[in-house]
Amino acid sequence: MCPDCQAAKLTNGLWNTFNSPQCPYCTARLIQRIGKLRTPTSDAITARRRVVLADAVAWGHAEEQIRKLAKGPLCYQPEVRE
Ligand SMILES: [Zn+2]
Repeated sequence: MCPDCQAAKLTNGLWNTFNSPQCPYCTARLIQRIGKLRTPTSDAITARRRVVLADAVAWGHAEEQIRKLAKGPLCYQPEVRE
């Protein structure tokens, strides 16, 4: 499991490190976190979220997956059970 997803899960989303753009779940949590920032304008928030999303898409992740994850509850990479 992604170590930052694991730490975020253990701290109920309070973990402040995001393995973005490598992990789509961290990227989605980062986009959610940015959305809660207090900034002078919402344009700044939108611009920052777009940069994070574009970085992850450039890394090879699916834009729709991240958008969907970011719209949902806090998300963490699922644990793989073998
Ligand atoms: Zn992660």
